[in-house]
Amino acid sequence: MPVIKPTCVRDLKLRVNIADVISRVVTLRKAGARMKGLCPFHNEKTPSFHVDPDKGFYKCFGCGQAGDVITFVRETEQLGFTEAVEAIGQRFSVEIEYEQGSGPSREERSLRQENFDIHELAAEHYHQTYRGDNPTGEYMRRYWIEERQFTPELAEEFKVGAAAPTDDGLGALLLKRKFSEAALRQCGLFYIRDHAALTLHSLRPRFRGRLMIPIRDHQGRVVAFTARQSDLTPQDDPAREAKYVNSPETPIFIKGNLLFNLDRARTAAKEGHPFVLVEGQLDALRCWSVGLKTAIAPQGTSITETQLVLLRRYHTQVECFFDSDTAGQKAALRFLPMALKAGLEVRFLSLGGQEKVDPDILFLQRGLAAYEELQKGSLSAMAYACQSLLPEPEKASAEQKSRASHGLLELVVAIESDVSRSEFLNEAATHLRITPSGLHTDFERFLSNRGQYTRKPEEAPLTPPANVADKDTPEFHLLMVCLHYESMGKPLATHLPHDWIDAGNIAGRLLNRFLSEFEQDNWPGKEHIGELLENPEEEALIATLLFDNPPFEDPLKVANEGLRLLRSRFYEPRLRQIELDLANYHADSNSDPISLLKDRSVIQRQLRQPLDLSAAV
Ligand code: ZN
Repeated sequence: MPVIKPTCVRDLKLRVNIADVISRVVTLRKAGARMKGLCPFHNEKTPSFHVDPDKGFYKCFGCGQAGDVITFVRETEQLGFTEAVEAIGQRFSVEIEYEQGSGPSREERSLRQENFDIHELAAEHYHQTYRGDNPTGEYMRRYWIEERQFTPELAEEFKVGAAAPTDDGLGALLLKRKFSEAALRQCGLFYIRDHAALTLHSLRPRFRGRLMIPIRDHQGRVVAFTARQSDLTPQDDPAREAKYVNSPETPIFIKGNLLFNLDRARTAAKEGHPFVLVEGQLDALRCWSVGLKTAIAPQGTSITETQLVLLRRYHTQVECFFDSDTAGQKAALRFLPMALKAGLEVRFLSLGGQEKVDPDILFLQRGLAAYEELQKGSLSAMAYACQSLLPEPEKASAEQKSRASHGLLELVVAIESDVSRSEFLNEAATHLRITPSGLHTDFERFLSNRGQYTRKPEEAPLTPPANVADKDTPEFHLLMVCLHYESMGKPLATHLPHDWIDAGNIAGRLLNRFLSEFEQDNWPGKEHIGELLENPEEEALIATLLFDNPPFEDPLKVANEGLRLLRSRFYEPRLRQIELDLANYHADSNSDPISLLKDRSVIQRQLRQPLDLSAAV
């Protein structure tokens, strides 16, 4: 178990400006000495998420989430403590120091981090092939410039690459870099037969003879590729006929959680510069190339709620540029309720009555001027919905109008705010040529039929506030043990791995910190505990704990019980996931049953190991 030196953690927090880390995820504006923005932990429309760069803390006054730079990375990227510190260190070039003999071994290097590293290397590898003096590179450059009419600069900017029609050495490169077998099986860049031993021979490249566009997450890390078919795509490519092939889903690439180009578009989107949602990744690149920097695209799948919530973190205005055909309209009507529910302001771009437009060709031929024209012909959410549901209201029968208005009420019900609902109903009534009061009455009836009068309160926190200590957690009890029975600190520190502790909670964070001190024989004693505390919440919690007598008599029993609880909380979800993977195992799964069974027995053995501090105290 790698343990990072506490001095190194302290140093990292001093050197890294928390605002630099948070602003990758949240758009922050100055508010006095602090900064604020929309909270990434709960859904809100006015910013209550505050960051104090001097103190190195953030706090949301809406949902109570608070913490330091490490907590933030842990919470927003679902990383463990060690992984989070490593990730920050890497981003800001701070060297991470480990306790002696505890540095990360190959097995312990985080699988997620390996996946990121593999993709970064693969992107570079494909890009070098693209630029290089070789037939694949020459062909793809010609395709990019002559056929697609993109510039060489754009290829550089987005690190466009090329996969050769035959094995081009990526597997060999990754094996040489000693990535773990688990990571190579998981990364999605190869076909590997499940039972095959992992050798160079068994790594069959998934992408061959294709133009490679790296897909980045909202933080700009390469997590997957979209691969365009070309004349070089070999006949035996299992997906030969597919124009575009995306990487399969992996732990770092979940299609419904990610929007193409959001990493760049989010810095350009602001008041008056809405996001522009296009259908394909190359459409987004085309927009970028003509200077429309806010274009984003899904990954060849329908838009999901998660994507829209992610979008909303940065900016609330979105313009949709969907195909004007029936499929495009259907997609738009599926998209609208989700967008309204997420609190997005949606408009639909259109050239006004013209036939099917291809964004790629349109922007290629007419550049940014085409965007201005599209904006002029754009429709509001309601206007668009009404037009799709009832294209010719002036000729419609009462029955047709009633069916269309029912479809509309389904949309309006997704809107959270009553004021907006009412405005939408008024607008819709005008479009459908019915009286507003009639539509309002219909809506009331519609709601009562659905039992929808009592809606969930808006902006409910998703997770319990991180700075309110829950007195029923094992972390809380162990903190109590450390403070009142200081001789137990050292034995606890040696028996309790850091990553069993939930540092998303104030008690967990303090426990982590205290155990590090015990471990290093640096514990200052509870009289001098102030030097270990970092904010008023922590001081308040410790003050209460010290003031009260512990509510138990036998600290050893409490400590043992706490250890056991933390261990099961750490391992049992993993065990359940393995059971689930085993139950759902099918031939093209990423992992094979043998290694799942092996993992299972390792975890089961861990869970059976006796945990008792009596001998150590
Ligand atoms: Zn919040």
